[in-house]
Amino acid sequence: MPSFSLLARSLRNLGKCATSGFPDVREPTPPRFRGRPEVSEDCMGCQACAEQCPSGAIRTEPRDITSCGGADAGPAKFGTRLVLTVEVARCLFCGRCQEVCPKEAVKLGGCYDFSTQHPSGFDLRREVALAACGVCGRPFAPRGQLEWVGLRVVDQIDPSVRDAVKADLPAYRDLCPDCRRTISIRLNTHTEKYI
Ligand code: SF4
Ligand code: SF4
Repeated sequence: MPSFSLLARSLRNLGKCATSGFPDVREPTPPRFRGRPEVSEDCMGCQACAEQCPSGAIRTEPRDITSCGGADAGPAKFGTRLVLTVEVARCLFCGRCQEVCPKEAVKLGGCYDFSTQHPSGFDLRREVALAACGVCGRPFAPRGQLEWVGLRVVDQIDPSVRDAVKADLPAYRDLCPDCRRTISIRLNTHTEKYI
């Protein structure tokens, strides 16, 4: 009789928890679980993740706005720091940010419990310093990204021009695109000489 077996099972489980112990007990997630994106200190602020995020959950904005003149643009306002925010309430957990990050700085972690009345409490923020142009003083790119790109250029460029590029790197790496274009001939760092 089904009702007896049901009764027996109920008696057997008397006093036991019939469901998991969540949220007091959290089961470990599988290795490839896609929970909340976590951004580590390795983030250099390149914004590749923000460009590729299909839902716009990752955004970047300048902070510590300063006023200074660009080579051609005249006085303008620029941030000296860049803030990257992951808005978890907009995240699709697709993993695209993790795929494109060149530094493996963003990973979808094991956090999956987002029940809250204040969704923005799960948002993540990372802040990086922007490098100022050595000529016009305009902040133009994340400092960490410039250093990373410099290392990759030296590492991967044609060996026949490696020494020349390495010698010129400190002179042009810290110039904004406007100043680089304007004074590269005078500095003798124009790319033409490597070809
Ligand atoms: S380093 Fe990675 S996490 Fe940081 S901005 Fe670039 S892609 Fe995003
Ligand atoms: S997992 Fe997808 S939706 Fe979520 S932040 Fe990354 S790229 Fe955007």
